[in-house]
Amino acid sequence: MLQDISPLNRIDVRFSTYIANRKADENGHMVNGVPDYSFDLDNELRQKLNNIPGFVSLSKKICATIAARQIQLVNQSGLAVGPNQFPEIYEMAVDCARKLGIGVPNVFVENNPVMNAYTIASDDVSPIIVLYSGIVERLTPGELKCVIAHECGHIHNQHAIYKVVIDEILNSGTGTLGTILSVANIALMQFWTRAGEITADRAALICADNVEDAENVNKKLLYGAMINTDYKVNVEALREQLEVTLNNPTKIYEVLSDHPNSIRRVLAEKEFEECEVFYKWRPELKRPGMTMRTKEATEIRCKKLVNILDNK
Ligand SMILES: [Zn+2]
Repeated sequence: MLQDISPLNRIDVRFSTYIANRKADENGHMVNGVPDYSFDLDNELRQKLNNIPGFVSLSKKICATIAARQIQLVNQSGLAVGPNQFPEIYEMAVDCARKLGIGVPNVFVENNPVMNAYTIASDDVSPIIVLYSGIVERLTPGELKCVIAHECGHIHNQHAIYKVVIDEILNSGTGTLGTILSVANIALMQFWTRAGEITADRAALICADNVEDAENVNKKLLYGAMINTDYKVNVEALREQLEVTLNNPTKIYEVLSDHPNSIRRVLAEKEFEECEVFYKWRPELKRPGMTMRTKEATEIRCKKLVNILDNK
C-alpha cells in the first residue's frame, strides 16, 4: 500500500503532539508570552497585523489549507530526515529544539541548488523545516546547524502561520487576502517579515556551536558560499558598505523585500552578541570587560539597523 511507505506515516505531525512535547523549561526565558530574545519590533509589528480586522482568523483558515498541501508536496519531492536518514542533520534539529525548548521539528532535504530553507506549519500540523540541497552542500556543518536553529526560531516565535500566508500573498500578488488588503497593510507585512528574520537570527546565535557560524550564514548569503574557502569577511568594511546604501535613494527597493539585506542581518547579530539576554542563554561565552547592553538599548540600535526609511 502506497500509504505504508510514506515517511509522514511514521511521523506524528499532529500539532497537539508537538505542543505536548514542548519542554517545560522554556518558561525561564519567556517574557509577556514571547521568548526573551525576540526582537521587540517583531512583536510590535505582529500586534499591528493582529489588529487588521479579520486577518488572523482568515490567515489561520488559509494557512491550514496551504500547509497541509505543502507538507504532502514536500514529502513527495524531498527526503525525510530522521535517526536513520541524514542522522547528523537530525541531531542538529534535536539539539536546537532542546536548547530553545520546542518539540523536535520534522526536517526534509529537497533537491534545489538555491541557498534557502523555510518552515511550514499551521494550527493543525506540527512544523516542518525544508532545507534546500544548495544550503546543505555549501555550508559547513556548524553553519547548517545555524540555519536549522534559525528556522527553529521562527517556530519558537510562532511566525510560521503569518509567514505561510504572507508568502502566499506576496508571491501571488492576488488571492482572497491580497484583494482585501491595502498597500499599507502589505508594506506592514513586509516590514514584519524583515523584523522576524532578526528574531530568528538570534535563535541561531543561541544554538550555534560557534557564534561565527551564525554570522557566516548571512555573510555567505552575500558572496555565495564559494566551496573550499574559509574567507573571513571584514565586518568594518560591511559597515562602510551599508553606509553607501543608507545614503542612496535605491534603499527604497528594500521596502519591497521580505528579508533585511544580509549586511543589516550580520550587524544586527553583532548587536545581539553584546546584549545581556544573549548571555542568559550562553553564560559560558561571557568575558571580562566585554561590552554588555540592556535589551532595551540593544533594540534601539537594532531598530535603526532594520528601519530602511529612517535609520539615522
Ligand atoms: Zn527566516
